[in-house]
Amino acid sequence: MSLLVQKYGGTSVGNPERIRHVARRVIDTQRAGHRVVTVVSAMSGVTDGLIKLAHEVSPDPTEREMDVLLATGEQTTIALLAMAIDALGARAVSLTGAQAGIVTDGVHTQAKIANITPKQILHHLDDGAVVIVAGFQGQTMQGQVTTLGRGGSDLTAIAIASAIGADLCQIFTDVDGVYTCDPRLVPTARKLPELSYEEMLEMASLGSKVMQSRSVEFAKKFGVRFEVRSSFNDNPGTMIIDETPSMENVVIRGLSVEKNQAKVTVGAVPDRPGTAARVFNALAEARVVIDMIVQNVSANGQTDISFTLNKADLARAEEVLRPVVAEIGAGGLAARGEIAKLSVVGIGMRSHSGVAAKLFDCLARGGINIQMITTSEIKIAVIIDEASVAEAANLTHAAFGLEQGAYTA
Ligand code: ASP
Ligand code: MG
Repeated sequence: MSLLVQKYGGTSVGNPERIRHVARRVIDTQRAGHRVVTVVSAMSGVTDGLIKLAHEVSPDPTEREMDVLLATGEQTTIALLAMAIDALGARAVSLTGAQAGIVTDGVHTQAKIANITPKQILHHLDDGAVVIVAGFQGQTMQGQVTTLGRGGSDLTAIAIASAIGADLCQIFTDVDGVYTCDPRLVPTARKLPELSYEEMLEMASLGSKVMQSRSVEFAKKFGVRFEVRSSFNDNPGTMIIDETPSMENVVIRGLSVEKNQAKVTVGAVPDRPGTAARVFNALAEARVVIDMIVQNVSANGQTDISFTLNKADLARAEEVLRPVVAEIGAGGLAARGEIAKLSVVGIGMRSHSGVAAKLFDCLARGGINIQMITTSEIKIAVIIDEASVAEAANLTHAAFGLEQGAYTA
């Protein structure tokens, strides 16, 4: 008998029929002899709908009331799922985040979990019930309703799994697991049976968008084993686990593609201390999130600074930088939308050479120009034209033989 946390995302509970389907799955798991805590999201589209409603009654809704409103999405699902389980003859108890003992800080709409006291969860489990917890929400020490940021139900599930010492946390979603690349882009992409936390973090934050990356960081920190799998079939999913020595043999685990990026270059910047600080302070104050930064070698006392960001933030970035360019005496500002980032990810890269050469070679043969390059210990990323991203992804996937599942040394 094991103790399982199962999380079902918005699509998996998107309508009454799907809720009944989840109810059956949960009951089957319990009847197979497991103790089950189920964490659910709001039904798909509900959170977005509530946000829209809020803006229809107020141009600037307060964050406190936003949390009170958004928490109702998950509260609806827990009650419906508990009713569905009850109707099928099993016993379930629904708990809000507060009832489940999830205490957060007071940063409304972006709260962090401070601690979990799972007293009620454990009590109802001991009683033989399926416990259903509302994802994405918590409560401050002072009793204020809070939410954990978009996609926060993943974090609720991982954090509860850690707090109750679950054997496994299963993230049920509308995809079969984590793939070597997005199968919509690369038809030969393969499902990965396992990957390390670090690889998952790169794949998740780099655009696989399977899971909220904060929840993966949490799982890594507290050693929570989890699995990503589909709620629509019984196929095994992808296990995310601590790194093992044999994992090092896999040089490239997968490719990650991020579209909707933009690039800004501040040209002919006087090469003296403080100019880069001035540029990025202005962007930080405007809350523009920066991804890659490249500054090249100074020539004639001048240098270029380029960085990438989300295309949606481009207009704001240009607006705040224009006065800064004048102030620091830089030569100009150039911006470009229509770019994308392609990354190859794998922990084996740490101890194997030739990955960069192979990647650049394959892009060269495809006539694809590389505009920027960055690397980390387990990743090499390039910026290319958005128009060639599908071609680049397919070429790279083939060059590393990822249709076989992974590129090994
Ligand atoms: N319902 C919330 C959202 O849509 C949380 C979640 O689904 O994980 O972001
Ligand atoms: Mg989600």
